[in-house]
Amino acid sequence: MINNSQQSKDTTPLLHREGQGGGSALKQIAILGSTGSIGTQALQVIAAHADRFEARILTANNRWQLLAEQARQFLPAAVVIANEAHYEALRDALSDLPIAVYAGADALCQVVESDEVDMVLTAMVGFAGLPPTIAAIRAGKPIALANKETMVVAGELINRLCREHQVPILPVDSEHSAIFQSLIGEVSPIEKIILTASGGPFRTFTKEQLQTVTPQMALRHPNWDMGAKITIDSATMMNKGFEVIEAKWLFDLEPDQINVVVHPESVIHSMVEFVDGAVIAQLGCPDMREPIGFALSFPRRLTVGNKKLDFATLRDLTFEAPDTSRFPCLALAFEALRRGGNAPCALNAANEVAVAAYLKDLISFYDIAKIGERALAGVDFVAEPTLEDIFETNRETAAIADGYLH
Ligand code: NAD
Ligand code: MG
Repeated sequence: MINNSQQSKDTTPLLHREGQGGGSALKQIAILGSTGSIGTQALQVIAAHADRFEARILTANNRWQLLAEQARQFLPAAVVIANEAHYEALRDALSDLPIAVYAGADALCQVVESDEVDMVLTAMVGFAGLPPTIAAIRAGKPIALANKETMVVAGELINRLCREHQVPILPVDSEHSAIFQSLIGEVSPIEKIILTASGGPFRTFTKEQLQTVTPQMALRHPNWDMGAKITIDSATMMNKGFEVIEAKWLFDLEPDQINVVVHPESVIHSMVEFVDGAVIAQLGCPDMREPIGFALSFPRRLTVGNKKLDFATLRDLTFEAPDTSRFPCLALAFEALRRGGNAPCALNAANEVAVAAYLKDLISFYDIAKIGERALAGVDFVAEPTLEDIFETNRETAAIADGYLH
């Protein structure tokens, strides 16, 4: 959990500031999911700042050729391919280099524990990001968190672990980075936060039109170039719902303190309102290298090669209320948050199954929400889940949701 103001309750571990210099050692980064959208952009930041960072560990699920290329360029100490079927191909591709090659989900947990790792960037997608994130926290590694599903499914437990191990979480998600940046130097409590949403590719579609939208249409996001799963989540607005839950745990908020506003230009990345009505916002061109760079180098800012805002040509910043009748996933996420316990985990599990099915053209756009709704209604509710409960909820809900498809 992050919190850099004195408003934190004592349940909230304070974000400690990274040292600024003092020793010339490079910061060693482990990237979980280096071949994805966030992972490749993080490597661009690292490559541009080779005087500050070194990519120590790189990992991927299936794209072993790209992982091998990245390893050849960045010469990490180790690489992990989660899908063991690609192990030999990857090992052979790197046989001339002094790079350890591992395979399997357990190896992801082991490599992040290495003494040489200074920070772990969690850029994997989905529930699969939870176990290695837990391993990293237990090993005392600061987390640059892109994998929002970790906080959605187990935010309370993750916060507890972070307190226990004195581990800071630095947000990579642009909205949460914006809030984090807006809080720097503040000592007053947050009145509310306003998460901005682009509205996705279907913002202006009618309910009728939404019934027939295809994954190919959804994959054309207007402002952000992201992995397939989060792109679909953006189109349904489940992504914003998950970000609401992520914000709850990162900033210690009540559900009523979290507001969502649609802002199609994606220039304001999110805002914080204080008791005196002052609203602090963070703005920029939409480019994930900015929040990635800030998470990696906090409290310092880095050049990241992004386009800068030009206020003279920036004519309109527009806002509208989200429409949960057309985008019911956002309301489902709020409901899961209010119910608490393992409800968000169940919603996430059902959503992962539904999005994968939608991407294969097996179900329609609104089936994603329907599957989420059924999962929430049917979950064996546990008010204070242990980690074992979370894994069990994920497994069971995914199996039940899978059953809906057949
Ligand atoms: P992506 O699909 O482009 O990349 C995912 C990465 O994780 C790949 O390297 C893949 O090999 C790896 N991976 C996937 N499943 C895995 C598994 N089961 N085991 C091990 N590795 C696995 O996804 P992305 O868009 O980069 O998103 C990554 C995370 O960051 C997601 O949680 C997403 O919600 C979050 N995020 C992404 C963006 C963005 O702009 N892309 C913005 C904010 C937050
Ligand atoms: Mg986001």
